[in-house]
Amino acid sequence: MERRVDVSLFDPAVERMKDGFIRFKIEKYDKYPDLYAELAKGQSPKFLVFACSDSRVCPSHVLDFQPGEAFMVRNIANMVPPYNQLRYSGTGAAIEYAVLVLKVENIVVIGHSRCGGIEGLMNLPADGSTSTYFVEDWIKIGLPAKDKVEAENGHLPFPEKCAHCEREAVNVSLVNLLSYPFVRDAIANKTLALKGGYYDFVNGTFEIWGLEIDVSPPIVV
Ligand SMILES: [Zn+2]
Repeated sequence: MERRVDVSLFDPAVERMKDGFIRFKIEKYDKYPDLYAELAKGQSPKFLVFACSDSRVCPSHVLDFQPGEAFMVRNIANMVPPYNQLRYSGTGAAIEYAVLVLKVENIVVIGHSRCGGIEGLMNLPADGSTSTYFVEDWIKIGLPAKDKVEAENGHLPFPEKCAHCEREAVNVSLVNLLSYPFVRDAIANKTLALKGGYYDFVNGTFEIWGLEIDVSPPIVV
């Protein structure tokens, strides 16, 4: 059975978090009482954002999202897996809640420069073998992006191939979003739009693009 214990006041990790919260409380929470009173009643974010877990790419910092603006999923290499209730229920639950309950108007998948997950994808052994518990299996979601880069830009130096793959993996995720029936419906009803994004923290730039996707219902014969 677990039992809650007090953490040491002299633990630097605890000190860092306490200091951070005090700063937030003084500079944000106490400064904008109307905003936080409104948010206490509920949330109605316009965005569902997929971003990498990488500590350098937090969308709230990079895009200045304020509390209440963006429902967020962060994972290794900002991947959206295809619809699969058994393997990817965590991601599916977040998309379902954002689209059907919160009724977000945009889903944005944001890739970034020097992504370790994408580098791992580009380095996956061709025989499909893995040596990690979870990581390699997860980043295999991006294999169609790797295949495209190898086919079209296989001659480029490795770092440039990775940079191409960082963008192509975003497109794979955008296409995967269409395998969720409620996403498809919302796009067809024009209440939801999909967008790709790319944050380059080496050059300090941000790209946003759309993808031409056919959402007409599949023809069943
Ligand atoms: Zn990353």
